[in-house]
Amino acid sequence: MQTLTPPPAAPVGERYLADCAMALDLALDQAPFYESWRPRDPGQTIPVDARYAALPVLTKRDLRAHMPRGFVPRPRDFQTGIATGEIELVSTSGTSEDRASIVWHQPWWDASEHSAASLYQGLDRVINGSQREAVLTTPLCAGTVCHIGELTQAERTLGRLLFLNQKADPNHWTPADKNRMLEELRLFEPDVLEADPAYLAILARYAAETGAPAPKPRFISLTYEFPSRVHYRQIRRLFPNTPILSSYGSTETGHVFTECEQGRFHQNAAFCRVDFQPFRNGRGAEHVGRIFISILNNPWMALVRFDVGDLIRLSTDPCPCGRTRGLTALAIEGRTRDLTFTVGGEAVTGGQVDRAIGDLEGLLAYQVEQPGPGTYRFRGVVEPAFEKQLFAEAEARLRGLYGDTARITTQRESAIGAEQSGKFRLTRTLFPWDTTDLFEPKGTVS
Ligand SMILES: [Zn+2]
Repeated sequence: MQTLTPPPAAPVGERYLADCAMALDLALDQAPFYESWRPRDPGQTIPVDARYAALPVLTKRDLRAHMPRGFVPRPRDFQTGIATGEIELVSTSGTSEDRASIVWHQPWWDASEHSAASLYQGLDRVINGSQREAVLTTPLCAGTVCHIGELTQAERTLGRLLFLNQKADPNHWTPADKNRMLEELRLFEPDVLEADPAYLAILARYAAETGAPAPKPRFISLTYEFPSRVHYRQIRRLFPNTPILSSYGSTETGHVFTECEQGRFHQNAAFCRVDFQPFRNGRGAEHVGRIFISILNNPWMALVRFDVGDLIRLSTDPCPCGRTRGLTALAIEGRTRDLTFTVGGEAVTGGQVDRAIGDLEGLLAYQVEQPGPGTYRFRGVVEPAFEKQLFAEAEARLRGLYGDTARITTQRESAIGAEQSGKFRLTRTLFPWDTTDLFEPKGTVS
């Protein structure tokens, strides 16, 4: 009689490619939305990376038009899943016009979160499904809870989660609001403080200025939007010894990249695939591009090549932390829609602007606007003692970034307001442009 022995464990790379192939086959064969994509698939005899590269890109508009049923793979059934409680329909963050619903399978989300936590030393021991988390972000929509207005702490507490904020723009927080949140944080003693960096920077600055005792979360995880050097500086002042990391992901994709102890970003390769599309030569910085996310090992939702609207800068050498699985990014570079352009027309990411001016001493918040080609406006919230030299220095550095003939004006502000979505924009153009010809059409790597 033949004895069955288990196959040897596949090496990490093979396991990843097998997961990618399985997710792709499930989507193309079983999820109704992808029927029109099937003719573009070169087939299973071709390497899986080439199959992904041959396919279109999934947009938020596609999600809005075809969620939920288009993305639930057969034989699973959306109504049955809702009835049995295996899934929920959850709203993504953003304004009403760019908000979409997605099929939410809690066990997959938890597994994705736990796996991502293994990419920062010690964090996975804390992210164990019962960690106490305080959340500081827009109250419009945070995970599965949306609320705004005056609620008691009990009403803002969902099991092990505490939602701190109740105002749409943190610039409108009163001292009483800030004292309440700091007090709640101290008493709640969260394992993880999950925060929008712009919001936490404002709260941390207030605490540092008033001498309020610092809360003591075990970890601070920055998420929801691009963390600026300006934010890090203000947060670090209040929390000099707390590990602070940036976590990149979305409601649609789960956890995609985690910043490691060395400050680089590692892909959560067991739960997502990342396809990278660099800028065309001369149209943007080298090794920088946009990313399309496919989710892996989710039995309830097939998401393939979803354009999350963000850019990363690839690392060209191994990270000193030793993690090698999946892509390593030197930085998350901000949103595609927040690109600005040099006088020569080359794209400049939010990350590039932040590296140029984010470390200016005394700078508390900023926004760089580009009203038209070749013209720029720096708006800054500045500590009074630094005002005089800061604006001149910002102008000089922005000229270095955008070009010698850049026409730059500067403007002192008392605050930079949040967008309707509750998020802030560090950079923006005020004229229409599109991404045509910006990125390498065939240059995707993964
Ligand atoms: Zn690393």
